Amino acid sequence: MNDRIAARFAEWLAERRIELNGAQLDRFETYCRELLAWNEKMNLTAITEREQVYEKHFYDSVSLSFFVPMEHIARVADIGTGAGFPGLPLKIVFPHLELVLVDSLAKRVRFLEHVVEALGLEGVECRHARAEDAARDSFLRDGFDLVTARAVARLPLLNELCLPFAAPGGRFVAMKGPDAEDEIRESARSLRELGGELVKVHRLVLPAERAERLLVEIRKTRPTPPAYPRKAGIPAKNPLI
Ligand code: SAM
Repeated sequence: MNDRIAARFAEWLAERRIELNGAQLDRFETYCRELLAWNEKMNLTAITEREQVYEKHFYDSVSLSFFVPMEHIARVADIGTGAGFPGLPLKIVFPHLELVLVDSLAKRVRFLEHVVEALGLEGVECRHARAEDAARDSFLRDGFDLVTARAVARLPLLNELCLPFAAPGGRFVAMKGPDAEDEIRESARSLRELGGELVKVHRLVLPAERAERLLVEIRKTRPTPPAYPRKAGIPAKNPLI
């Protein structure tokens, strides 16, 4: 579809040297349509306008690639992915990625499975699990070049939910709003315990809405200690602060 909303989205990405082809734009449009249709039956997103889906979900998700060059990444885990953000837009733009989407809510995972099939995407696994449990799976633990999460939890908790999936030498990038400075300050202990090192906080401004985003880039320095993550629910109840 080549209407104003899709064309503007393509232009925004072209400004970042990301050129989308027609098949990729078709996939974004199908994703948007399915998201808004399913959202009428179940709670997937607070966003109900197509224009906003393109900016606040699609562009925002792809913005991760402005800071982490995806050519060097093979395996990506998106923890607490909800309706697929940021994992699925990244997969649409960078089809070589091998993607695992993790969410604890079964109905959202059903939507993910549906949309992955509707988009004809290969190399995407939709995993219905708590992050704390999935991280005990040896296929997933310490296994990803890039782990990401958007709007899931504050950083001290998020580090325990996400860092166990990153391979030593790999990265975890937390996608945050503008008020994440306090969380970052509070995350020293969780970083130390989980073997993470703060690399950089990247700033982004959404092109139309002008809202600010912070992307917190963390490097995994060593394998996950056997005690982590703790049993499901404990990290949220008693975060490593
Ligand atoms: N990342 C998506 C986005 O940015 O639109 C969804 C954000 S939504 C606010 C948070 C999601 O995290 C929910 O879908 C919830 O089910 C999931 N979640 C929360 N805690 C989790 C856990 N411990 N393990 C797996 N998923 C979790």
